[in-house]
Amino acid sequence: MGARVSARFPTEEEINKLNKCIDNVRATIDSDKRDGKRRNCCVVTYGCQQNEADSEQIAGMAVEMGYNLTDFTDQADLIIVNTCAVREHAEKKVFSITGGYKHLKDANPELVIGICGCMVSQEKNAEKFKKSYPYVDFTFGTESLWKFPEILDVVINKKKRSFVLNSGDEVICERTPSSRKSTFTSWLSIMYGCNNFCTYCIVPYVRGRERSRKPEDILREAKQLVSDGYKEITLLGQNVNSYGKEYGVSFASLIKQIAELDGDFIIRFMSSHPKDMSDELIQVIADCPKIERHIHLPFQSGSTRVLKLMNRHYTREDYLALIHRIREKNPDISLSADVMVGFPGETEEDFEDTLNLIREVRFDMMFSFIYSPREGTPAAKEVQMSEKEKTDRYLRLLKVQEPIAEEMAQRFVGRTEKVLVEGRSKNNNEMFTGRTSGLKIVLFEGNDEMTGRFADIEITEAHAFALYGKVVRVY
Ligand code: SF4
Repeated sequence: MGARVSARFPTEEEINKLNKCIDNVRATIDSDKRDGKRRNCCVVTYGCQQNEADSEQIAGMAVEMGYNLTDFTDQADLIIVNTCAVREHAEKKVFSITGGYKHLKDANPELVIGICGCMVSQEKNAEKFKKSYPYVDFTFGTESLWKFPEILDVVINKKKRSFVLNSGDEVICERTPSSRKSTFTSWLSIMYGCNNFCTYCIVPYVRGRERSRKPEDILREAKQLVSDGYKEITLLGQNVNSYGKEYGVSFASLIKQIAELDGDFIIRFMSSHPKDMSDELIQVIADCPKIERHIHLPFQSGSTRVLKLMNRHYTREDYLALIHRIREKNPDISLSADVMVGFPGETEEDFEDTLNLIREVRFDMMFSFIYSPREGTPAAKEVQMSEKEKTDRYLRLLKVQEPIAEEMAQRFVGRTEKVLVEGRSKNNNEMFTGRTSGLKIVLFEGNDEMTGRFADIEITEAHAFALYGKVVRVY
């Protein structure tokens, strides 16, 4: 397991330099308004919620430097692609869409193109962009996100390409602004990196060692979000429930302090690791109605033998005992999990253990993945299972989980659930959608004024992936 590090915070000199770069870029942008209009920046995001939160910070810095934001790459003067490295498929997609930007650069030689995030935290990918994509102006890894203004200053004002890898000094920069996409749901990163080194996972190599933000900084941001009218705050970390060991503050006490802030809002959190799920946290979830009635607890495999190969630090029995403790204190809680099939060395017996764990726990929701080897991780060096065998197991697993999710959902029929209305459903524009405290999707008839507000919905019908209901009141 990697050593725990304390976060390093930027020095005054570094902050002054950053502010100077922001001023430099803004001066250039302001002096060169096209047809009196500001330049546009488009941030394209792949991957997880942490990437979405990072992209909001990149957008926030771009606005600070004088850009307008756009969702359209063909209207942008600055395109930044925030990448994911978890699956090979996602990496291939980024190389392919970046190839498509060449014609934009040909049409507009002033266009600036940058790639950031997990994928270019790996030297081989940064090198590939540098050598084979001459129209890409810069790349920076996850740990250098706070230096984005410095990098852009080099590209725009010094007319040089810039390729910055992770420095390894794992800085937390608190001055970074965010341009949030939603006006009622928000991400709040409370920590970065991971120390666990699960043998299939690339995250510790691309996001560095685990380090937490100071509790007072998180509380200040949470307070601001509530006073700005945000109704949902999702606390983010690769291993969120191991938060705060540097400061002697537990995740349970942090989330409790946020829940004690005045206002009507819901707190969500992800992702939790089973080995860090304390009894204190289980109790706090039971005691605080503002904390979601849902826990996402990836188990990955139901076989203790495979869990050891994965370096997960718990056994099948530990996981089942933990679920028992959670349900004892929170009998109605919704449980979701990540599970992986086709890990190298997984036998039919191991896979049966996984199916039996699913039958025993009865999860409300499940996120199932086929193992995909990531270069640079220990599991990628092992003998791999055939794609056909992996797919067969995946389909068998879905067949077990789906009827369970359908049955579990029936308990909501006849109840009235508090839902944060997210807007019109993407699949059915006539219906509105929101999520219960237990993270179940609910569909109902409504109107646009309801978006961003809480509503009580009487549940009339339940299925594995969605509940249906009618509005009782909006507030
Ligand atoms: S805990 Fe999560 S992020 Fe950390 S190494 Fe394991 S799977 Fe990756």
